[in-house]
Amino acid sequence: MNTMDDLFSRETLAGNNRDVLARAVVVLVGCGAAGNNLAFNLVLSGVGQIRFVDDDWIEVSNLPRAPLFRAERMGSRRRYKAREIALGALAHAYATEPTVRYAITRIEALGLAAFADAHVIVSAVDSFEIRALLSDMASALGIPLVEIGFAAPRGQVSVFPHRTPEEPDWRCLHPEVEPGRYSCDLYARAAAATGRIAATQTVASALASVASEAVIRALHGEFPLGNQVFHLDVRSGRSSVVRVSRDPDCPGVHARLPPPVPVQVAAVEPLGRLLQIVGEVLSDPIVDLPAPFLVQAPCERCGRPVRIERPIWSVEGPPACRRCPEREDEGGGGRVIVNHLDASDPLARLSCRQLGLPAGSIVSCRDRATDALYTVRLAGGVDDLFVTRRRVPSPAATPPDAPALSSEVAP
Ligand SMILES: [Zn+2]
Ligand SMILES: [Zn+2]
Repeated sequence: MNTMDDLFSRETLAGNNRDVLARAVVVLVGCGAAGNNLAFNLVLSGVGQIRFVDDDWIEVSNLPRAPLFRAERMGSRRRYKAREIALGALAHAYATEPTVRYAITRIEALGLAAFADAHVIVSAVDSFEIRALLSDMASALGIPLVEIGFAAPRGQVSVFPHRTPEEPDWRCLHPEVEPGRYSCDLYARAAAATGRIAATQTVASALASVASEAVIRALHGEFPLGNQVFHLDVRSGRSSVVRVSRDPDCPGVHARLPPPVPVQVAAVEPLGRLLQIVGEVLSDPIVDLPAPFLVQAPCERCGRPVRIERPIWSVEGPPACRRCPEREDEGGGGRVIVNHLDASDPLARLSCRQLGLPAGSIVSCRDRATDALYTVRLAGGVDDLFVTRRRVPSPAATPPDAPALSSEVAP
């Protein structure tokens, strides 16, 4: 028996395969209390790679339920949750060659490219709209989704294997939540913040343990909690498991994306270039944007049109024109939003990235004439979207009582 066998001897008896876990790629969206407790369990269990996504920074009040953040790193400098959780996870990782990747941004900014080669997606976010979005993305890609949420002293964990498009998804459970609802209002941040709910370490760790086991089982291809929701009240000890059935009127994505065809178009190149290439396959191509694109919006004060040219989720405040407050009402500037573009649209001059399609994006294109679908993948991928840190094994290969931190940062 070598040292690694010793290290995971109890886990092996319990049915965990350390090679499976070492090769595993888990994407964790939301790096608060649930995310911290989950990631802590996963890296201790030997999961090889976790990708962390969160655009928020740490407040002192986060620390008592975040085992991977370090109070001594808090100071006058702003510390971002995604980076701190990744560093904490790497320090605690028991995989032989653990990798952590982090992106300090919203998941919408990364799109489907964030999930390339991922085995499980974990939703540990506050916002119901983001849960709905993650559900649609996981379903389109056929990747299992583990979802966790709580309002102390109660919480829930749900597991959606997405083995077939006919299986229930998170949206069958919450058909009233729209992934783009906040996108249709302006000012995403304000809307997302309203979903914030109270957590305590006890409820976070209890529910995160159930969710972590669901992730580990899913990595082994097992779904004991599949298509079910586990509810727990940590104070009373009451729990229940509810099976989710397929809602025939579910607004969610119950279809798989066709496998994308790689194209040599970088995210910094204009969308027109992509349309030109797709035009070799489709006679009248249109690109469906992953999120509505706000071209212009009225100035909050005078109503004059203000040029925005950003995906709508990234617009953080009401627009104001440069002339305000000097000039009074002239009125008339309506909001202009586009959802898809063809080669004749002047906006096709903008870069793919500006239009919300980052490196490695999976882009859905359609033929206007025949409605034929065609998916392509832009050049680049996870290395362009995430900062990467790895721990290489020390020559002595001693498991990590004192991990040798020789890390590497991707561009
Ligand atoms: Zn559904
Ligand atoms: Zn104005």
